Amino acid sequence: MEKLSIKIPGYVVDVASKLAAPGFQAYLVGGSLRDILLGRLPLDYDIATDATVEQMSEIFKNAKHVGAAFGTVVVPYLCKKHKTHHEVEVTTFRVEREYEDYRHPSKVEFVKDIHADLSRRDFTINAMAARLDNLDFGTYKVGDTLYEYEVELIDDYSGLSDLKRKVIRAVGDPNERFSEDPLRIIRACRFRATLEFEIERATFEAMKRHVEKLRFIAVERFTQEFIKLLNHARRPSLGIDCLLKIGALKIFIPELVSTVGVEQPLGHIHDVYTHTLKVVDAAPPGVVRLAALFHDIAKPQTAREDGHFYGHDIKGAKMTEEILRRLKFPKSVIKKVVTLVKEHMFYYLPGTWTDSAVRRFIRRVGQDNIEDLFALRIADAKVNPESEWEPKELKMFREHIRKVLEEDNAFKVTDLKVNGHDLMREFNLKPGPIIGEILRYLLERVLDNPELNEKEKLIELAREYLERAQKS
Ligand code: ATP
Ligand code: MG
Repeated sequence: MEKLSIKIPGYVVDVASKLAAPGFQAYLVGGSLRDILLGRLPLDYDIATDATVEQMSEIFKNAKHVGAAFGTVVVPYLCKKHKTHHEVEVTTFRVEREYEDYRHPSKVEFVKDIHADLSRRDFTINAMAARLDNLDFGTYKVGDTLYEYEVELIDDYSGLSDLKRKVIRAVGDPNERFSEDPLRIIRACRFRATLEFEIERATFEAMKRHVEKLRFIAVERFTQEFIKLLNHARRPSLGIDCLLKIGALKIFIPELVSTVGVEQPLGHIHDVYTHTLKVVDAAPPGVVRLAALFHDIAKPQTAREDGHFYGHDIKGAKMTEEILRRLKFPKSVIKKVVTLVKEHMFYYLPGTWTDSAVRRFIRRVGQDNIEDLFALRIADAKVNPESEWEPKELKMFREHIRKVLEEDNAFKVTDLKVNGHDLMREFNLKPGPIIGEILRYLLERVLDNPELNEKEKLIELAREYLERAQKS
């Protein structure tokens, strides 16, 4: 039995000691143990036990029962000193049985010990366990403080050696693993990116062999892994390229596969796909990375003889919306990413942009998206040795925007110094489309001349607009 020393926070020690007191087993498992062994601080801690959900609820009175049917309770902790919240997932030893049309594990079966539990896990590096119930708990504080313990490592599949060799390898027969749950194929690519490990050959071959089964999984499961692949990796390109090579990208985002080999004769040395991946790696995690992934998605469809890709921003925004909807991204994310793709081609030349052009830009992009748009543009230019465009111009643009924002206060209808009620009262109008029409007209005028944003002036402008409307 291998012994090693690991550090775990006081609140995890507390879960283990409370399970151990009445004689239950407790093991630290999964990604949390993997991350500790890699010298990373895990985001969350998972514990496996022989206690049932009923027994756990006796021990942890404040436990949340989110996954009770699957044997999981969530124990919340508040670290008073650091004012931080934590949750520990405690799960009864189990195996998933039968993935009904690959959607959800239709059934779980509780099993007798940790070895059986580990055998159902995806990769060797995720299939280790550290025994916590036989520790000398001594005195500890429930909180974030880390305590060092010597633990027994259960490592039936040589996960520690794979961790040291930086290898992703399926537990047991990879064909069986990927047939049971093809999502594991995506997870392998995710770990390829987040850990920067290589995928062992037989595992990789099996991923290719079973890739078509991914057509049957619920798309949300793909998206959840894909978001982690994008945001938790220093180089997401490793994972995206993995998806391409094994044939999974064509199933979920075929539009990206179409960018492979699309040459860009003007101002680029890379094809669209290679350029895209470089921009993704250079972009900060979150909406900017997603926008980076899709910023040139319409280039294959808009390529012209003359080497230009006219309108690829507008068409790209439409395609991005379709793709993100299909992948069931949240609406708020879709809206931001679509805006970033649509606007990514702006070209600020100092001296040629008037204040009102800057105001219109702010209104179109939305004040909240401007820094993200700049981040996208910086990533786009940075990775392209042929880029003519200098981010120093961004500095001047930022300055211009700041100046305009400082001087002005109207960029959207609700910033106007009159509202719909004022108009209805003043002109004796009933609610209807005309109100919105007048407000939009007023905003246009204010964008050109911010001094007009005063109540009396706006009412006057509205009066003129109504008179003209009545005449025509
Ligand atoms: P992260 O650091 O992102 O949380 P993780 O490895 O903890 O990564 P989770 O999705 O939180 O990933 O899953 C926790 C553990 O459960 C995994 O380490 C693995 O042992 C097991 N697991 C999760 N999903 C699967 C799956 N589809 N098939 C087999 N085992 C899985
Ligand atoms: Mg986890």
